[in-house]
Amino acid sequence: MTKHECDLAIVGSGFGGTLLAIIARKLGYSVALLERGVHPRFAIGESSTPLADFKLAAIADRFGLDWLRPFSKYGTWKQTYPKVQCGLKRGFSFFRQEAGVPYKPREGNANALLVAASPDDARSDTHWFRADFDANLVKRAVEAGVIYVDRLELHGLNHDGGWQLQGTRADEEVEVRAGFLVDATGDGQLLGRTLGLEPIDPSALRARSRALYSHFTGVARWHDVLEKTHGKAATASHTFPCDEAALHQIIDGGWMWILRFDHGITSAGFSLDPEVHPVRAGESPEAEWHRLLQAYSSLERQFAQAEPVRPFVRTGRLQRRLARAAGADWALLPHAAGFLDAWLSPGIAQTLFAVERLGRMLADDWRGPCREEWLGDYGRRVLDELAWVDEITGTCFACFDRFEVMVPVSMLYFVAAHYCEDRERAGQASPEAAFLLADDSAYRQLATRVCRKALTVSAADASHFAAEVRRALEPYNLCCLCDPERCNMYPFTGTVRNP
Ligand SMILES: Cc1cc2nc3c(=O)[nH]c(=O)nc-3n(C[C@H](O)[C@H](O)[C@H](O)COP(=O)(O)OP(=O)(O)OC[C@H]3O[C@@H](n4cnc5c(N)ncnc54)[C@H](O)[C@@H]3O)c2cc1C
Repeated sequence: MTKHECDLAIVGSGFGGTLLAIIARKLGYSVALLERGVHPRFAIGESSTPLADFKLAAIADRFGLDWLRPFSKYGTWKQTYPKVQCGLKRGFSFFRQEAGVPYKPREGNANALLVAASPDDARSDTHWFRADFDANLVKRAVEAGVIYVDRLELHGLNHDGGWQLQGTRADEEVEVRAGFLVDATGDGQLLGRTLGLEPIDPSALRARSRALYSHFTGVARWHDVLEKTHGKAATASHTFPCDEAALHQIIDGGWMWILRFDHGITSAGFSLDPEVHPVRAGESPEAEWHRLLQAYSSLERQFAQAEPVRPFVRTGRLQRRLARAAGADWALLPHAAGFLDAWLSPGIAQTLFAVERLGRMLADDWRGPCREEWLGDYGRRVLDELAWVDEITGTCFACFDRFEVMVPVSMLYFVAAHYCEDRERAGQASPEAAFLLADDSAYRQLATRVCRKALTVSAADASHFAAEVRRALEPYNLCCLCDPERCNMYPFTGTVRNP
């Protein structure tokens, strides 16, 4: 039997758990990082955002991890780590597909939305090729002195004045004792299951989706499909190349993400309302994938030469949220505490916000009397941020049948994101600030009103609704969003202070 005794046991070596392990080690704690798989391994959750980039840079600066900072921008990532694969993400793009007919750009871009997030490629954010990125972090963790045990099947977890974890690695028994446990297992939901933490009733979660996805070669650029079908006019108003983005193709009762990496791999998947798209008995994931593409001829065209490079994954309903995310000597990272959907890519940023919060607690008086209170606050924030993202995501989903209503609803996300990014650029953001203005009660209240109203607005009333949303968001709208003159095509309008 191999035995390890340490201050912190972190279960799950995704980027979240591993980054926290590196921070804790840097602060002088003894850390065991336990993983059931082996790196490099496939992981979903790849599209980053500017807020995630700011948090990554803040973590690098606060904890003296200079090697981490280049990952916070596309330009420095490519220059410093050309072998760690990533993709260029200039912003978010959305197109509304209609079943049975090819996509046709509508007047005034009424079935498209582009929101730029960066002024140029170098300062742009990225899609993380997680197999490379996570493996690279784990290597750093081992170099930093983290005890790393992979291929570990945990079979015992006791919580009795400390934590005792037992598992098997190959034929060997492994025992880890730790004062504090972090659940970074994501969908593995280690503590949720073993401590019997109470889940929120799934019917209380607004977003409703299941996923079907893989990685592909040979996915055509949507820009090329558009131009081949409709000529250059189809892309003339685009404010950045629409494929260098988290490309959202919206269908009836769902949407598809398309994220391109620089080495020819594309991550693509459908997120589907299970009530509109129930799994058909006997239909394989691959057959379902092709049936969905066939229903949308422009998507079929985009994927005509595509080949999956790994088996399809078909999930059950994605949404879950626990009622607690921390206790006196344990904490869950956000992906272990809950999940909503890939829509608008909130997961990486939320995880980094949580990692930085835990890192700051570890750097402060961790063994002092305030820890329990801090952890209570940490847990509430993690859950509140998930609830906030659920409100925006669920309302956008409810408007998929009315793209012109969904666009103003999505501005709740973009206005909040740009507001927070602008404060970051100005150096005015508090390290305590929550993800996406989740702690701004005035913003949350106005968002709740917008979300409630959106459910009842018809497509015919959409322009009135958009004007109302614009007025409501005005105090926060620093970057000229919600402007009808822009016809859904937004260039980067943030202040550039750090060229
Ligand atoms: C379909 C889908 C699409 C998504 N797309 C995006 C996106 O585009 N952008 C975005 O920001 N977020 C996205 N997310 C969310 C994103 O995946 C998560 O926010 C992110 O992966 C969280 O990282 P993590 O390190 O906390 O956990 P994970 O990446 O989930 O890592 C968990 C680790 O724990 C290990 N593990 C699990 N159980 C055990 C166990 N019992 N013992 C030991 N080890 C264990 C796993 O092997 C894994 O290595 C998506 C999620 C899904 C499901």
